[in-house]
Amino acid sequence: MSQRVFNFSAGPATLPEAVLRKAQAALLNWQDIGASVAEISHRSADFMTLAAQAEADLRALLHVPDDYAVLFMQGGATLQQALIALNLAHPGQRADYLITGHWGKTALKQATPYVDAHIVASSEAQGFCNVPARDDWRLSADAAYLHVTDNETIHGVALNLPLDVQVPVIADFSSSIASRPIRVRDYGLIYAGAQKNLGPSGITVVIVAHDLLRRSGQPRAPILDYRAHLERESMLNTPPTFNWYLLGLCLAWMREQGGVAAFAARNAARAQKLYALLDDSNGFYRNPVAVAHRSCMNVPFFLPTPELDAEFVAQAKTRGLIGLKGHKALGGIRASLYNALPDAAVDALIGFMHEFRKHHD
Ligand SMILES: *Cc1c(COP(=O)(O)O)cnc(C)c1O
Repeated sequence: MSQRVFNFSAGPATLPEAVLRKAQAALLNWQDIGASVAEISHRSADFMTLAAQAEADLRALLHVPDDYAVLFMQGGATLQQALIALNLAHPGQRADYLITGHWGKTALKQATPYVDAHIVASSEAQGFCNVPARDDWRLSADAAYLHVTDNETIHGVALNLPLDVQVPVIADFSSSIASRPIRVRDYGLIYAGAQKNLGPSGITVVIVAHDLLRRSGQPRAPILDYRAHLERESMLNTPPTFNWYLLGLCLAWMREQGGVAAFAARNAARAQKLYALLDDSNGFYRNPVAVAHRSCMNVPFFLPTPELDAEFVAQAKTRGLIGLKGHKALGGIRASLYNALPDAAVDALIGFMHEFRKHHD
């Protein structure tokens, strides 16, 4: 393969070509140090500057208020799902969970050993094709927090609702962070594994209100304690330095591209084009998600039979369109349209879909 293909992978996902080229050029000798960024101390002045710049870029991109901390951590989004319970709730305290897909369920599972996890509403009985109506949520008055998943990566469901609750909202933004402007202040804590919309795997972003960190939480080792990580500027132990570097390059690239507002406009237009094709296909391509909650980031769809799904994926690959196979829990096809995916990729996919339908409908 001499050319880069169009990569629709849900995560780890495509990275901006400009970022990869920059990293490639600096791989042996970063900033004239004579060594790779992966080979130097995280405590060196050069690396500390990189880390500070990444935080500044993230704060600028997302308009993070000063009374919110930013942490760069390991362990993925899944570790956060346990840490949230350990840090923000007393042992056995009630914590509310809204379940709109697979990742809401994992969040609940990770918290269950530590809190009285309560499902306020779930769309599982409807196959996660919708978000439970706000009036049907059974919120607990005494909950430590409400956990929601902003974008369900597997089912392609976006929350798209004003939350308007009394307790702090904890939101999994793994597959939607920086995809559209948000008001950070609407949330107590936002977390996101970087490997979907921000950069490489191995590094996770946590944005948390200082206020919340004053809670006593549960007995826990320092490595599981947000306050300890904050005190040591996310360098309580050796951080994933190369991942941090790549994340920093991606954040700088997003700012150069016009920031979150520019991506939001692009993402909406691209998703709109793809959904229009699905809806105008006479049922050949089918997306089951309620229109108001369709995701701009992850678009799952199904052909008339699993055999056609498989043929679609195989043929797409020969056209240089990869990463389209749906998650094993759901089957079908999934196109992930993250910020780093070029517009030309979506146009190529749409062209291929028209052609495939012509030959198989
Ligand atoms: C991918 C994903 C996760 C899991 O992330 P890990 O980094 O693998 O732990 C959790 N939530 C959402 C919404 C995701 O897309």
